Amino acid sequence: MVALIKYENFNCDSLPVFPEDSETKGALEVLKWANEEYGNKLIYACSFGIEGIVLTDLLAKVNPAAKIVFLDTDVHFEETYQLIDQVKKKYPDLSIEMKKPALTLEEQASEYGDELWLSDSNKCCHIRKITPLTEVLSTATAWLSGLRREQSETRAATEYINRDNKFQSIKICPLIHWTWKDVWRYAHKNGLPYNILHDNGYPSIGCKTCTSAAINADDLRSGRWQGAQKTECGLHLS
Ligand code: SF4
Repeated sequence: MVALIKYENFNCDSLPVFPEDSETKGALEVLKWANEEYGNKLIYACSFGIEGIVLTDLLAKVNPAAKIVFLDTDVHFEETYQLIDQVKKKYPDLSIEMKKPALTLEEQASEYGDELWLSDSNKCCHIRKITPLTEVLSTATAWLSGLRREQSETRAATEYINRDNKFQSIKICPLIHWTWKDVWRYAHKNGLPYNILHDNGYPSIGCKTCTSAAINADDLRSGRWQGAQKTECGLHLS
């Protein structure tokens, strides 16, 4: 299969148009197109937050054997690992890779000092998230992400299909028009499993070392890197 839209020839003017007013606000249509366009060169980088659960369910409808990667930084909540086990049982044909960084936590501490996430969180994210995803995406032409426009200012201009300069790839975001309520409505209606931390004040869940309960009900990502200027791990910044 040869993809027509690649990083090298990306052109905003020739992108397909999807129905934003469909039942899934374009998500299922985008996923069908992406599956046909990229086949096994499409990878979903899933964090298994509630958006990730919804997108996994939609993706499994389109391709029950789709490829998913989870960036296993070694410092996720136990609840997150439990959820992934549930997802593996619910969708046994999905390929879910637990991608580890090159350095163990001990090797990282030995090289850069203890608790690098406190002393230099950007370096820590680079070692434990960005480099592993770079390795994974070197085998793919496009990747899926569960970004929604309403999540933050930095995500407000996200399109369904994006030229991703950071990873020199095509980043596809089927949920851009979904609201927080849309996501939960879909998850409950379809009886999807989800991280129980969501019920305890954690709307956005990342590494346990850098995630707290949200401090601002209007900012769903306000529990991430509390007390720091950082708002993104860097996967979605160019
Ligand atoms: S979120 Fe925190 S612990 Fe996780 S990779 Fe980034 S800095 Fe490190």
